[in-house]
Amino acid sequence: MYLYNSATHKKEEFKTHTPGHVEMYTCGPTVYHFAHIGNLRSYIMEDVLEKFLRYAGYDVNRVMNITDVGHLTSDADEGEDKMLKGAKREHKTVMEIAQFYTDAFFSDCAKLNIKTPDVVQPATGLIDDYIRIVSTLIEKDYAYFAGGNVYFDTSKLDRYYVFNEHKEEDLAVGVREGVEEDTNKRNKNDFVLWFTKSKFEDQALKWDSPWGVGYPGWHIECSGISMKYNGEYLDIHCGGIDNAFPHHTNEIAQSESYLGHPWCPQWFHVHHLNTNDGKMSKSKGEFLTVSLLEEKGYDPLVYRLFCLQSHYRKSLVFSWENLDNAVGTFNKLIQRIAALKPGDGEVDQETMETLKAKFKGALDNDLNTALAVTAVYDVLKAKTNDATKLALLADFDQVLSLDLLAKAEAKRQEMAKAAESKTQGDYTITGEGDPEIDALVMQRYEAKKAKNFAEADCIRDQLKDMGITLVDVPKGVKWSRE
Ligand code: AMP
Ligand code: ZN
Repeated sequence: MYLYNSATHKKEEFKTHTPGHVEMYTCGPTVYHFAHIGNLRSYIMEDVLEKFLRYAGYDVNRVMNITDVGHLTSDADEGEDKMLKGAKREHKTVMEIAQFYTDAFFSDCAKLNIKTPDVVQPATGLIDDYIRIVSTLIEKDYAYFAGGNVYFDTSKLDRYYVFNEHKEEDLAVGVREGVEEDTNKRNKNDFVLWFTKSKFEDQALKWDSPWGVGYPGWHIECSGISMKYNGEYLDIHCGGIDNAFPHHTNEIAQSESYLGHPWCPQWFHVHHLNTNDGKMSKSKGEFLTVSLLEEKGYDPLVYRLFCLQSHYRKSLVFSWENLDNAVGTFNKLIQRIAALKPGDGEVDQETMETLKAKFKGALDNDLNTALAVTAVYDVLKAKTNDATKLALLADFDQVLSLDLLAKAEAKRQEMAKAAESKTQGDYTITGEGDPEIDALVMQRYEAKKAKNFAEADCIRDQLKDMGITLVDVPKGVKWSRE
């Protein structure tokens, strides 16, 4: 398998410290608000990566943190405390906010078929570990105490900017408008390992430490959590591209300085979901959530498909029109799978292997999910029996997680039911006696009833492509062939 590695800026062969075993770490959400669908793009692509590694035969240990302390509104230790901001907004305690949005995050993940990592660790649960790491960093002279906080001294490293050769002045914290410079820092990009002198008088979560009562910086949690559950050698670290600097840069600085050896050789960064006005972000106020997609009648898995159709290293523009296109693609796909007959023949192993190789080949090449989705169409077009096609689709869906077979089965049942009756309540279909068309017309009615207008329109278009014209009449619909 070849994957692009942000640390070396190259596509490289994927290697692991222990053969056949992957230690994987993912930066989890900051639980002060709902995840937006941009955040979830990152988690969908990381989920595909994990599932593909398992599919390729690796045994994977995936660890994720939940940020419930220490993340300020600027990733560079400035601004408001995000958790406190959430608690104030909702007149709740920080822990109530953390619990509520952690549950909401995993509920969104479940709807998008994102598997829960093997280990999920809230940052507040490992304070002693961070204290131990920070103490060692001070002993080794990589960290210093100034003005009440403990800082990492970035000048101690030969190569601090591991992902990009940034110019310090461009990135310098304190020169941004409206952000006060932290004069305790020896170097502009030094970062806080432990805060005691917080500007938030009402900081809710505080712990005793050798440097006074306080709380950990955001970056130290990921190093601490990963070292505890992944061990000293991490194989691959994932996150959204905005995490590369300063968050991941700082994780590497502190982990390697603490361990005294290289820590994580491979870095997987997912590019952003943007709207036409730029990056989707919570600080902009309005953002899209899975619940909002559902309220508008979209199946969350349509959003998963939408993400899979583009490469994780390209930014992706979200628009309702683009999502509607994905609805059309998904419906047609499910329709075609529903037309396959389960139990039709014996599985042809040779065809299985050929088409599986194509699917695996796409993902082996820097996780090309768009090409992997086209491998699904290759299956549908293949000259083989339905049993083989269904077996292949089940196989691919271990990675794609689009519920292809379950949805096709539901569609089959829906069509059978619709074909049985041309009336539902006082809704009647008048047409030319074609059960397949009647079934689609009834599905459109069901979609409209469920306010799933995108799907209803998509079925109307599908019928139009088949040369069928629909006329809505009182208490029903009339269809005719052009
Ligand atoms: P946060 O909850 O802010 O800590 O972010 C959770 C994850 O979402 C991180 O891996 C971010 O890098 C990622 N992320 C943030 N914004 C976007 C976006 N617009 N598109 C994709 N991923 C994002
Ligand atoms: Zn992290």
